[in-house]
Amino acid sequence: MTAAPDGLPPLAGLEIARLDWRQDETGESAPHSTAFDDVYFSRHDGRAETEHVFIAANRLPERFREWRESRPFVVGETGFGTGLNMLCTWACFEAHAPATARLHLVSTEKYPLGRDDLARALAAWPDLAERAARLVAQWPAPVTGVHRLRLDDRVTLDLHLGDTTERLALLDGRVDAWFLDGFAPAKNPGMWRPELFAAMAARSRPGATFATFTCAGVVKRGLAAAGFAWRKVPGFGRKREMLAGEIATPPADERRQRTPWFTPPAPRPVRRVAVVGAGIAGASLAAALAGRGVAVTLLDREGPGAGGSGNAQGALYVKLAADTNPQSRVYLAGLLHSCRWLEALDPARELWAPSGVLQLAGGEREASRQARFLERHPLPAGAVEGVDAVEASRRAGVAVATTGLDYPLAGWVRPDALCARLADSPGVDFRRAGVEGLEPAGDGWRLRLADGETLAADQVVIATATLANRFAQTARLPLQPVRGQVSRLTLPEGAPPLRRVVCAGGYVSPPLDGVLTFGATFVPGDTDTGVREADHAANLAELERTLPAYVAALRAAGTDLDPAGLAGRAALRAASPDKSPYAGPVPDAAAWADDYAVLAKDATRVPDTPGRHHPGLWISAAHGSRGLASAPLCAELLASRICDEPLPLEQPLADHLHPGRRLIRDLVRGKQAWPRGRTGVEKA
Ligand code: SAM
Repeated sequence: MTAAPDGLPPLAGLEIARLDWRQDETGESAPHSTAFDDVYFSRHDGRAETEHVFIAANRLPERFREWRESRPFVVGETGFGTGLNMLCTWACFEAHAPATARLHLVSTEKYPLGRDDLARALAAWPDLAERAARLVAQWPAPVTGVHRLRLDDRVTLDLHLGDTTERLALLDGRVDAWFLDGFAPAKNPGMWRPELFAAMAARSRPGATFATFTCAGVVKRGLAAAGFAWRKVPGFGRKREMLAGEIATPPADERRQRTPWFTPPAPRPVRRVAVVGAGIAGASLAAALAGRGVAVTLLDREGPGAGGSGNAQGALYVKLAADTNPQSRVYLAGLLHSCRWLEALDPARELWAPSGVLQLAGGEREASRQARFLERHPLPAGAVEGVDAVEASRRAGVAVATTGLDYPLAGWVRPDALCARLADSPGVDFRRAGVEGLEPAGDGWRLRLADGETLAADQVVIATATLANRFAQTARLPLQPVRGQVSRLTLPEGAPPLRRVVCAGGYVSPPLDGVLTFGATFVPGDTDTGVREADHAANLAELERTLPAYVAALRAAGTDLDPAGLAGRAALRAASPDKSPYAGPVPDAAAWADDYAVLAKDATRVPDTPGRHHPGLWISAAHGSRGLASAPLCAELLASRICDEPLPLEQPLADHLHPGRRLIRDLVRGKQAWPRGRTGVEKA
């Protein structure tokens, strides 16, 4: 596959698996791949085969029983297929693991099943029905990338959609037990390549085991060359032998295989974490950590959702670049993640609605940008779809005059209520207090609070938007405040409908409780939060530019559109210079200036020194006006890193979000460009 302009595999839709349902030897119908001419499982003894080949040969019952680590046990699989292996592993974990243990499943899949086929295939196992239902409910759109599914409080599944070898090479995480599945090597030679075994070895924990149904020579040679010791063990049913074994040559420290300054800090104790700032970034992170059994104190000098996340209604939307870049990948992944996460958090939809989001083209320039985006990103219609004006009008419920991009899964959220709900999660202790400063204390941190008290924590996350660089440790992170005012218009009875969030220069959401919310202004550098009539007028003018027919219908229905009569709210959002969030460990800026000083003279002399960080100090900030799409995924990213789990984003995308990226850029500014792919530094 040709790489995208950013060097990663293309961001695209995947071909759905083509199945036929053949009668197996018992006369029952079982899924069969037409492309590979091979079976997913045998209806007669598929379960027993999974138990024998993958679960028993990796000794999972014993290992689960003995698991006492605070990090989750990680199972990695090539070829998710119907998910039967993973559902059986989940059941085995529940039967054997102690109550505090957690399980993390990582599986790759290049030809995901359609949702209906998935449900039909898993219906063969009634005792797995509840687990299957959870999987089917969260089944992602077939888009390349990582999709995190929370199967239950203790079990997470990361589906890495795309080619196994490519996806494992991008995986930021390490595995304890591998299921080497995939159709038989003779039927699927493209998968069983030396690079696959090398990628597995590089992402193995010391002592990682593997098991596979095949004994093919290419597999034995590949495993051995990559550093795995294999042995033949009795196979299942008519298959005399299969392979099992473990990593024999300890893999190089995975943390050292990346751009040196992005090397993640080594894991530290994580009993109590203080999260500073209870907007969407901090509140979602607090809930993510508490969900992993971490004791969390969430602090905010006001209340949950007091700042930029305090609006009564906000759009869950993204704007993707015409040419693929890491920022667009993060935002699309974030959008898909937020939709899934909200559905799991709030199935009753009290806090959000997947109304769909329509991004209108407006002018010719935007129309050709959108056309370029669609041409370069063959994504499934369920994720992003180009629509003409007629279809756009039908979906929005109002007449629009231009083409647009439609995001059927996206919608709107009540950010203030969402932050309050998250701050109220079990295990999160919300405390109304300002934090004035942070000092290292023993192995952790002491927080100095505005009320004169102090608080001790093993680790600290700063999530205070525009104030995030007010601490001595974060002072070098560039952040810009951006004022944004939304307007709120109470609609009269009989006002025309609006079914989708519609964006162009600004956005307008479908009315909520009879109130139409639209805006927002965007004024970088303005830190005033007073509501201004002039901003209401600007929001009204933008609304009329975007939806003239809707505004005319509002007028005809007797709506008073005088800016002086509008309600609204102004708040500050924080933006980084490159407009991507900061999500990661806080770099020790003084140490970086020393360690990487040579870059100022010669940007090609990359020192080996791993980045030094303030131990146990993290940041999630600069979510700008798209925090509903970025913050929950960044929360998972940070919680996963803090808890020593596989990440829900590809390694280069985690690097893209690293808070130190601008420090390096500043060091090399004006100097020779970096070798491509080495730095993760964007050109301005
Ligand atoms: N583990 C599965 C289960 O529990 O149902 C069965 C796996 S099925 C036998 C093999 C799977 O590997 C198929 O879903 C197929 O699409 C997938 N596959 C084949 N080649 C692949 C590749 N190169 N990258 C990713 N997945 C691949």
